[in-house]
Amino acid sequence: MYDIIIVGGGAGGLTAGIYAGRGGLKTLIIEKAFTGGQAATTYEVDNYPGFNETISGPDLMMKMEAQAKKFNAEIIYEDVTDIEVDEKIKKVKTNNSVYEAKALILAMGANPRELGLSKERQLRGAGVSYCATCDGAFYRDKIVAVVGGGDTAVEDALFLSKFCPKVYLIHRRDQLRAVKVLQEAAFQNEKIEIIWDTTVEEILGEDKVEGIRVKNKKTNEVKDLAVEGLFIAVGVVPNSDIVKGKIEINNNGYIITDEGMLTNKFGVYAVGDVREKTLRQIVTAAADGAIAAYAAERYISENKWEE
Ligand code: NAP
Repeated sequence: MYDIIIVGGGAGGLTAGIYAGRGGLKTLIIEKAFTGGQAATTYEVDNYPGFNETISGPDLMMKMEAQAKKFNAEIIYEDVTDIEVDEKIKKVKTNNSVYEAKALILAMGANPRELGLSKERQLRGAGVSYCATCDGAFYRDKIVAVVGGGDTAVEDALFLSKFCPKVYLIHRRDQLRAVKVLQEAAFQNEKIEIIWDTTVEEILGEDKVEGIRVKNKKTNEVKDLAVEGLFIAVGVVPNSDIVKGKIEINNNGYIITDEGMLTNKFGVYAVGDVREKTLRQIVTAAADGAIAAYAAERYISENKWEE
């Protein structure tokens, strides 16, 4: 049996692993795909404290993973299919096995939101992408569009402008949501054309993206843009499906915790982007992870356990 099982190996999960491992707890991190979470798909991170020289997302997350391993947190790559949280000993079922722990830290993060267009899934990987950092290089010398007005969309547009002669940034309002420093960089970038008050109505092309049909919400003007790539960056949805009906979540699917990251079940904590909170960043996920590991450590030491 483990002291703590952490479900998810992004910034929140890895930091919880660092703290739990360093605290001498027998710690297991279960990750379904690759460690680092969304941050590992980020081109540059320039707001994580301590890295005055910009660090790439993958590099930062590899450092976090190495640090968790240094403190003996065990990392395995399996898909968690179910959890049992009602008994004192918590169970985590994966595609491979069942693991038990005294405390659980839920760090499943969030995934990109889909736009819901009819050919969006069909053409995913054939021009439709949710990760400019992962796929951008395939679009060298091609005209592309990014949808969204948040930090991710603007960062994606800036990143793509390094490869692409033209990047349309399509936003449904007349103001970007992204932080000012990113906005300014986009405004000054000659390759980026921002198309305001506009939504994507249709993806054009059968086997690959050949264009998009967009509509101006103020004028109702509809026009087609010839693009070969459509990067969708319209926010995220929390990966909370496995806890639905077991742990309290809000109307948007985010897990509700108190300040100590405790959910409505004793011994079960939630951290990072899967948690209801105001600011979803690497630094806040890391802070959540530290707090949850500390709280879990106290919970374990204050209770009696049969070994
Ligand atoms: P976000 O901040 O939720 O922004 C989503 C954007 O997509 C908004 O501009 C929104 O428009 C638009 N949108 C949502 N649904 C849409 C739809 N159906 N059709 C068209 N547009 C739609 O998401 P995000 O940019 O992915 O960022 C997520 C979190 O990660 C944020 O907290 C962000 O600060 C953080 N983040 C931080 C950094 C960084 O610090 N470097 C980098 C990336 C992400 P409206 O503006 O009209 O709502």
